[in-house]
Amino acid sequence: MLLTIATTHRPATDLGFLLHKNPERAQAFDLPFGKAHVFYPEATEERCEAALLLDVDPVALVRGGGRRGLLADYVTDRPYVASSFMSVAIARVFGSALGGRSKERPELAATPLPLEATVAALPCRGGEAVVRRIFEPLGYCVRVDPAAAERVASALTQPDDGEPNRYRNLSLQATLPLANLLAHLYVLIPVLDNDKHYWVGDAEVEKLLARGGDWLAAHPERDFIARRYLKRKPTLAAEALRRLGDESGAEGHEEASAGIERKQALERPAHLNDQRMEAVAGALRDAGAVRVLDLGCGEGRLIKALLAERQFQRIVGVDASPRTLEIAARRLKLARSPAAEQERVALLHGALTYRDRRLEGFDAAAVVEVIEHLPPGRLRAFEQALFRFAQPKTVVVTTPNREYNALFPGLENGRLRHPDHRFEWTRVEFAAWAGRVADAWGFTVAFHGVGEADAEHGAPTQMAVFRRCA
Ligand code: SAH
Repeated sequence: MLLTIATTHRPATDLGFLLHKNPERAQAFDLPFGKAHVFYPEATEERCEAALLLDVDPVALVRGGGRRGLLADYVTDRPYVASSFMSVAIARVFGSALGGRSKERPELAATPLPLEATVAALPCRGGEAVVRRIFEPLGYCVRVDPAAAERVASALTQPDDGEPNRYRNLSLQATLPLANLLAHLYVLIPVLDNDKHYWVGDAEVEKLLARGGDWLAAHPERDFIARRYLKRKPTLAAEALRRLGDESGAEGHEEASAGIERKQALERPAHLNDQRMEAVAGALRDAGAVRVLDLGCGEGRLIKALLAERQFQRIVGVDASPRTLEIAARRLKLARSPAAEQERVALLHGALTYRDRRLEGFDAAAVVEVIEHLPPGRLRAFEQALFRFAQPKTVVVTTPNREYNALFPGLENGRLRHPDHRFEWTRVEFAAWAGRVADAWGFTVAFHGVGEADAEHGAPTQMAVFRRCA
């Protein structure tokens, strides 16, 4: 599996700064499924080309005991072809560039550059037509070369299933910021492959769609792209993901942790987090809730507060990030609690944008500092999953009040509190959203500020309490 990225921007060797990889030397990175090598076949002022070579170890994929079934076939085409492993490697090895960050060349990271990418031996279900449908709307000049790929197909160690010549060498050219190119490859390589993804849970799907962000929302083949993901329902248990190291989440988690720290640092002087937990727990208490959901529970701060109150007899936390859930389980000391206490709490891995029957039959749901992490295009799906299907009697939603950002020293004008926030709403925007949702699904809604309110900008956190009409 080989990906190359080249630029003719002058000086072309700036590519090394953007990728955070020195053109002077080859580097290797250990991944749970093998090794990734980064090297530069060419590094001159005029043209610089970086290569990411994946050396997948098929034995590592099946080692580790546990279930068979995850790549249970020892013999697989995975080591030879570009697949979702390539996306995982992009996130792991070029994470900063994928996030649009560059220490040395920050302005260049956002600048459109003449870029060319090639991917060797990419399995393409549907062939060239699908490649063009997917990449051309994004502005790429696309070249597809089937001939060399046939060699790959014939090198495979097992008979192929139905579409023997689906491997293509792909070349893409466009002028765009490097982060965009990487995000396109990250999302679309597995779409083309359309085989079982290395990541397989709904939450990972969600993460991919999140990487797609605005360009995916505007893509004419958006539905096709999404369908190709969704066709592959989760087939593997969370333990398998863990065994493989949840690589697709590793970078994301690192970023999220850094982001949370920034948000906490901003909000710390006001003890805003404690005030938020108190406000939410208070709203749940006042609603008389006994069985409660904490949707997007993160590291379990609210759950901890709720456990201290006997009123809450059943507390279920849900989060998309298995790593975060592991941290929550540790912080809550679930493994070491008495059995009765353990029965009060459950942590579920799930995505809030899909109907989930495990979330039905609760008195209340808290959604604390979560909606701003959802891509705006997925908010509707979230509303349906919660207000239409899960239908708790009470829903408590908190989200930052963007107006208040002006009062945070250290937060530059217009910046959001957390790099992973897709949006932050003013009070009017939040009220408009909440009002529409309440009307649509038969709830009433009341608004509260959390934290010390400023006369002009309001309170730092805004909270909506929805109650289902009888
Ligand atoms: N409620 C927690 C965490 C807030 S951070 C607290 O206040 O401390 C947002 C959390 O939402 C993260 O843990 C993230 O993993 C989770 N999240 C984001 N999008 C999600 C989705 N679509 N489904 C489930 N969880 C999601």
